[in-house]
Amino acid sequence: MTDEQLLDLRLCDLPLRIAGTPMEKRLARLYDELDARGLRFKPHAWLSEEWFTPDNVSGFAIPFYLAHPRLIKLERRQMLEVEGGAEAECLRIMRHETGHAIDNAFRLHSRRRYREVFGPFMRPYPDWYKPEPNSRDYVLYLPGWYAQAHPAEDFAETFAVWMAPGSRWRRRYEGWRAMRKLEYVDEVMWELSGKVPNNKSRARVERLRDIKITLREHYEKKRRHYDFQWPPDYDRDLLRIFSSDDRHKSSPTAGSFLRRHRREFCSEVAEGTGVHSYAIDQMFAAMINRCRDLNLRLGLKEKQARQKVLVLLTVQTMNGIHTGYHRIAL
Ligand SMILES: [Zn+2]
Repeated sequence: MTDEQLLDLRLCDLPLRIAGTPMEKRLARLYDELDARGLRFKPHAWLSEEWFTPDNVSGFAIPFYLAHPRLIKLERRQMLEVEGGAEAECLRIMRHETGHAIDNAFRLHSRRRYREVFGPFMRPYPDWYKPEPNSRDYVLYLPGWYAQAHPAEDFAETFAVWMAPGSRWRRRYEGWRAMRKLEYVDEVMWELSGKVPNNKSRARVERLRDIKITLREHYEKKRRHYDFQWPPDYDRDLLRIFSSDDRHKSSPTAGSFLRRHRREFCSEVAEGTGVHSYAIDQMFAAMINRCRDLNLRLGLKEKQARQKVLVLLTVQTMNGIHTGYHRIAL
C-alpha cells in the first residue's frame, strides 16, 4: 500500500494487536523490572491513538503505530519522529505510564502526604506549561522538563526515576529538593511491595477498534496539536549566518543549505530540548521561506554556518518554550 492508500484507512480497521510484536517483549521487560523492585502490580496495556493512562485505570494505552513496522514508517513520514520507536525510549515512557497506573491502582493521590509532596492531583491540567530548566525541585526523565507540567506528572516522573534499573537516584539527586519526592516514593513502594491493588479496573479506554477516524484525520489532528507559534522576528539572527551581499552571489542559497540539513538539525534540536521534531520543522520551514524572501546565501564556511544555525534553532526553541509550549499528551 502507498502512504496515500494507507491514510484512507480507519484506525478501527487496522488489524493490530500487541501479542507477537516487539511491544509484547518490552512489556515483559517492564514487568520484570517491577518484579525486581518487589512490586506485584502489573499494569495492563492496549492499543490506542497515543500514549496515555486514563483516570482511575491501572493500565495504559500504547500508540497503534508501535504494533507494525509499516505504521512506524508512516508515523516517521507524517510526524518526523516516532515516540517510543527505540526500545530504551519506549521503556522510559512505559515506566512513566506505570507511575500513573500504580498511582490509580492504589489511589495514592488521595493520601495527604502525596498532596503535600507533589501538590493537588485534582488541579486541572494546563493547556501548556512554562518549565524552569534549572529547577532542582523536579526530577529529569522524559524530555521537556515534563515533571513540571502537573502534580500527577511529577509523581509519574519521580516514580519512573525510582524504578529505572541502575538509576542511582540517591547519588544523582543528592542535594536536590526533588530528593524528598524520591524518598517519599521509595517509602510508599516499600509499603506496597508484594501487595495486590485494591483498584483492579482493567478498563481499556479509547480502544483502537472504537476509533472511527481515518489515519489521515488522525495525523491532521496530531499535527495541529504540535503546531507552534514561533517568534516572528529572527531576521537579525539569519543575517549573522547568511548574507545578501553581492560578494556571496556564487555561494549556495541559504534555502538549499537549510534544506540539505533539515532532518539532522530538527532531530538534533528536538533531542536537546524535548520539543517535538514536527514543531521544530515548522519553524525550519518558516526560516527557509524567510531566507528566500531576503534573498540570502551562505556567507560563512559550511561548518561554521551549521553550528550557528543549531544555536539559533535551539535558542528560538527555548524562547518558544518560555512563551508557552504545550506537549501535554501523556
Ligand atoms: Zn504522564
